[in-house]
Amino acid sequence: MPELPDVTIYVECLSRRVVAHTLESVSIRGLNLLRTFEPPVEAAERRRVAGVERLGKRIVLALEGDLFLVMHLMIAGRLRWADTGARAGAVSARKTRTGTIDQARFGFDTGVLTLTEAGTKKRASLHLMQGREAMSELHRGGVDVLTCSPEAFARALRAENRTLKRSLTDPRLFDGIGNAYSDEILHAARLSPFKQSRSLSEAESDSLHAASVGTLTRWIDTLRREFGLIDENGRPAPGRFPGPGEVTAFRPGFAVHGKFGHPCPVCLAPVQRIVYAENECNYCPGCQTEGRILADRSLSRLLKSDWPRTLEEREGPARIVARGPQPDVPPDPTP
Ligand SMILES: [Zn+2]
Repeated sequence: MPELPDVTIYVECLSRRVVAHTLESVSIRGLNLLRTFEPPVEAAERRRVAGVERLGKRIVLALEGDLFLVMHLMIAGRLRWADTGARAGAVSARKTRTGTIDQARFGFDTGVLTLTEAGTKKRASLHLMQGREAMSELHRGGVDVLTCSPEAFARALRAENRTLKRSLTDPRLFDGIGNAYSDEILHAARLSPFKQSRSLSEAESDSLHAASVGTLTRWIDTLRREFGLIDENGRPAPGRFPGPGEVTAFRPGFAVHGKFGHPCPVCLAPVQRIVYAENECNYCPGCQTEGRILADRSLSRLLKSDWPRTLEEREGPARIVARGPQPDVPPDPTP
């Protein structure tokens, strides 16, 4: 799932291409994609783009007239960009090679933005909201770890007694962190993913906060350089839009996430994994669990019982149900 660093890259790439340009057309192909019916999606057409923003893991196109197009890519949703002139060849060739399916196309005077989603489970969503207040109701309420104080971080962490893995990835508590970066953050903080959030000392909570900021900041910087969004002097540059496979939860530079069996870059112990629900949690026993290899089956159960029933439940909008049809999205259990 695209997390805070990936979404930041999409937002910056898109900003440089569409801000102050006109969204000329919106074409929805995915049957499940659009989750609002009022205002109608055609209302977004022929409007100037005022800005591109991040809302948790969502990407927001702010349009003139106080309209907001809000995309959540969930697990398999991705964005593609084709400059005007290159559009037809580039878009259709990628579609056949990767087997992704176009869910929506947004035509600008500068190019075409395509939202693709691979696989049979279509979970990505698109909301068109009138007004910033309505738009912000889509936010699940998590604090932005990059800007919050250590005290606000500690308060969010202790709001519920959960495993650290669950707390960090809960969008009601923290903003933009998912399965991949939570593994990396916990490794950097040298904390077990299974430790309960309320058992953390103040020093451990501060260290987890620092590891969150450090890990996310370092990866945003790494990805900005990879996609040419900053030049060698650190100045903003136009950059290139991520291509197929380039927004991924499996990066060669990760320490533990997706590295089962590989040596930990810090202590060389083989990275372990716990498989649960639709997820996998990776950790280093040397750095995080005092050398203990934790029994897979019981911890799978622990994480599973600590987890929302479905991904949609975890990522879904908080109070939006009354606003429009929500196909295949179970009601949110949180008040
Ligand atoms: Zn290690």
